[in-house]
Amino acid sequence: MTAETTASAESAFPRFVSVLGSTGSVGTQTVDLLLADRERFAVRALVAGRNAELLARQAIALQAEYAVVADERAYPALRAALAGTGIEAAAGAHAVVNAAALPADWTMAAITGAAGLASTLAAIQRGAYIGLANKEALVCAGDVMLRAVRDAGATLLPVDSEHNAIFQSLADGNRGAVEKIVLTASGGPFRTASLEEMAAATVEMALRHPIWSMGAKISIDSATMMNKGLEVIEAARLFSLSDAAIEVLVHPQSVIHGMVHYQDGSVLAQLGSPDMRVPIAHCLAWPRRIATASPRLDLAQVARLEFFAPDTVRFPALRLAREALQAGGGTPTILNAANEVAVDAFLKRRIGFLDIVATVDRVLQRLGTPPAASLEDVMDLDTAGRQAALQYVGAAAA
Ligand code: NDP
Repeated sequence: MTAETTASAESAFPRFVSVLGSTGSVGTQTVDLLLADRERFAVRALVAGRNAELLARQAIALQAEYAVVADERAYPALRAALAGTGIEAAAGAHAVVNAAALPADWTMAAITGAAGLASTLAAIQRGAYIGLANKEALVCAGDVMLRAVRDAGATLLPVDSEHNAIFQSLADGNRGAVEKIVLTASGGPFRTASLEEMAAATVEMALRHPIWSMGAKISIDSATMMNKGLEVIEAARLFSLSDAAIEVLVHPQSVIHGMVHYQDGSVLAQLGSPDMRVPIAHCLAWPRRIATASPRLDLAQVARLEFFAPDTVRFPALRLAREALQAGGGTPTILNAANEVAVDAFLKRRIGFLDIVATVDRVLQRLGTPPAASLEDVMDLDTAGRQAALQYVGAAAA
């Protein structure tokens, strides 16, 4: 499903690229790489949620053909900023999907959450190369997305650093000889915190990630370790692995991003400075490589690499995600929907830090393990998960 099984030939440079979520953390780093290599990459469409000002600046700098904001209230500002440039401006959810459906060799899917599902699917349906950062889409609609990838002959290139590491470590093609993979986790800002300290955690404390600088939602997911849970589900889908074949290790230095254990006892790993430009560049250029300004890894300076088993008592999100993966069907959809609502409520200071995963747990218990065969099923369960979570969040905030 990832490149090893679907790509037939490398697409030549220059590549036409679209970036969904260009104003976010992954998006801006993608734009920086595109700006540094104008000969290899031409830009078709850039898409943002509402940040019209930054979107317009990016579109002008990259001479994009289209710039689209999801929030229609941001359209007048976008149109004014692009007046006279020849860049076409558009707004609204349909315009986002239309932009994703425009012909492009390569699309970065970097909208946060299930909000990115429709546009990621539209890009997949073109049968092109997709740099997949938007893990929630794959968690929420795994079977539907993978079916679309197969039907369209698209290629998913994993942008998430751990999955990109696995992808690179699987490159010799011996998939049948894989015993297990290891996803590493920094442990987030509360790696050594007690449950009492986590109960009192503020939004600012939870957003202060020790290693990575990322968008707000994934930063909170890293603090609860739900991010690693979502990544276990993402890895199962991307690499056709069972839950049992995916190990998680806390590795505070975040130098080794992922490892593959083979049946002959070999372990292949990908290492690098913790810098998202590395996996983004790998996907952008795949199957070739391009230069980045990323800080080079200096192992003598790092000196020590540590690994710990995750603590699922203090971080129950990982256990919930594994249970959702084992249950299958629509359970990961519900897990993701409830988590998105609970993280949003925490960011708005309506619930406490530990209420995030407690909310997900309660919603999962209430909604059970329904099937999700079609996109309609997925959307219905996403709505049900959100509504149930909103009730618990409202009760917790009252
Ligand atoms: P950010 O919150 O920084 O950026 C999100 C982007 O999506 C912004 O461009 C935002 O626009 C846009 N957006 C939000 N809602 C919509 C919408 N409804 N329609 C269109 N665009 C929308 O997130 P990150 O870059 O941190 O993360 C993006 C994805 O990548 C997530 O799925 C995350 O899990 C994954 N990821 C991120 C990593 C990181 O280092 N940040 C690492 C690995 C994976 P606007 O700015 O206008 O609001």
